[in-house]
Amino acid sequence: MERRHRQRERPLGIVVQKYGGSSVATAEHIKAVAGKIQRARKAGLDLVVVASAMGKTTDRLLRLAGEVSSDPSPREIDQLLATGEEQSVALLAMALHDRGVPAVSLTGPQAGMRATGRYGSGVISEIRPGRIRRLLGEGRVVIVAGFQGMNALGDVMTLGRGGSDTTAVALAAALGADRCEIYTDVDGVYTADPRIVPGARRIPVISYAEMSEMAWRGAKVMHPRAVELGALYGVEIHVLSSFDEESPGTIITGGEKVEHLETRETVAGIVHDTDVARITLNGVRTGPGTLSKVFTPLAERGISVDVIVESGIKEGVADIAFTVSRADFAEARSAAGEVARALGGSVEGEEGLAKVSVVGTGMLNRPGYAARMFSALGSEGIPIRMVSTSEIQVTCVIPAERVQEAVRRLHRDFELEEREDV
Ligand code: ADP
Ligand code: ASP
Ligand code: MG
Repeated sequence: MERRHRQRERPLGIVVQKYGGSSVATAEHIKAVAGKIQRARKAGLDLVVVASAMGKTTDRLLRLAGEVSSDPSPREIDQLLATGEEQSVALLAMALHDRGVPAVSLTGPQAGMRATGRYGSGVISEIRPGRIRRLLGEGRVVIVAGFQGMNALGDVMTLGRGGSDTTAVALAAALGADRCEIYTDVDGVYTADPRIVPGARRIPVISYAEMSEMAWRGAKVMHPRAVELGALYGVEIHVLSSFDEESPGTIITGGEKVEHLETRETVAGIVHDTDVARITLNGVRTGPGTLSKVFTPLAERGISVDVIVESGIKEGVADIAFTVSRADFAEARSAAGEVARALGGSVEGEEGLAKVSVVGTGMLNRPGYAARMFSALGSEGIPIRMVSTSEIQVTCVIPAERVQEAVRRLHRDFELEEREDV
């Protein structure tokens, strides 16, 4: 069998396929994925497959870590979480062997994925694809554990929640693949999370810019860094359903395939994120350099800050508020508390918040989108705590318990259900 594969005709090209947690949730799912891979291979493609951990395995492992330790070490958490993906790839290889498909599974480190940064949010620094290429050359399907790489110490690091998408797109870039297919439990990118807005519409083609903004703002169907890599290396990403083979899904791309990018009058979608906490420094002495005093200690701890508002500036005293993810809340609050006290003020924090965003290049240079958003939220009686805008998005921070209402109302008010021009 090996010989025959080695002597194959020139392959049509490399395709990277990624299967998310719900696509490999059970043994039955894994067998179904093996069937899909076998069919794709019969079409003459060289396949590299990235798999996530089965179902909710990553959540379960995180809970277990919390049960054995009140403060588990980040290195050990990564060591633990990486096993989730390692199980999936080995099982998928076995299911392929059962079908007579030559397949081999690799952990991230075995596949040449190098990572750097903080445990739990590593970034891919380099890919050494030699081994994958050799295995493809032997006619094998190569199955790579998503969401992990090896750091300079030789330790395994994970890439942040949802990071298997990034593994897949990075591999597609490194291998010069024709495209990267992301198989998930919805049949594409929608104008809002279809689990919250039943009338949401599938977007057939979306630009990297819009998708990147949607992903950063919380549309978890794609990991934001995966979209950025796609844009950077020109990897076309197809978001497809693992369960519905008929749907054409969504193509994330750039250039001429995305029509009317600047003249389109509508927004692309409504996005929400419930992983939001706010920290406010009240009554701090302000002047040149104050913001740097507040945010440098956070940056040094690797904490990302999102919406920032400085307000109530009077006689050299101001309030400074910003948002962070819940995981960073305690650390950010204590760091901000030290700065606030040094500047004669106090600190206050609030969890239980959410962000809702209107995203789209349709907003470029057109005023009025923010006002429309405020009036939609206002007429629903939803309080807006903070606002941030850029040329292709407006984001409001609101109470988390109102987020579903907000998304539905905005989806309706921005006429995303009726639109004809996608
Ligand atoms: P996977 O495990 O395959 O990586 P995820 O759970 O990470 O899947 O992402 C798929 C989920 O993303 C969907 O089930 C859906 O609820 C959610 N989602 C959020 N926003 C959107 C959107 N705009 N379009 C499609 N899905 C979305
Ligand atoms: N298993 C990881 C997570 O649940 C990575 C991924 O699924 O992309 O976040
Ligand atoms: Mg995902």
